[in-house]
Amino acid sequence: MLSCKEAAALVSESLDRKLPLGQRIALRMHLLFCRFCRRFSRQVLFLRGTADRVRGEKEGEEPPVSDSLSAEAKEKIEQALKTHSESKSKP
Ligand SMILES: [Zn+2]
Repeated sequence: MLSCKEAAALVSESLDRKLPLGQRIALRMHLLFCRFCRRFSRQVLFLRGTADRVRGEKEGEEPPVSDSLSAEAKEKIEQALKTHSESKSKP
């Protein structure tokens, strides 16, 4: 049987990498009997899930925004260069 400390370590470790089957089972068993660690793992998973969702939304939203901004900025720069060079070329 895992101690609560070991179980907590496995919970946070399971977020970053897939645990070996033996450790997964040991953790499962501990969570079955220990409601403190069960609550802890739920909170950790919830927080992790929220963070992933927020990061995913950001990643999904950022490219179109920056694309439209850069396209607009590019146009403005091109126009500015055009106007500038045109006015410059005129005597
Ligand atoms: Zn525990």
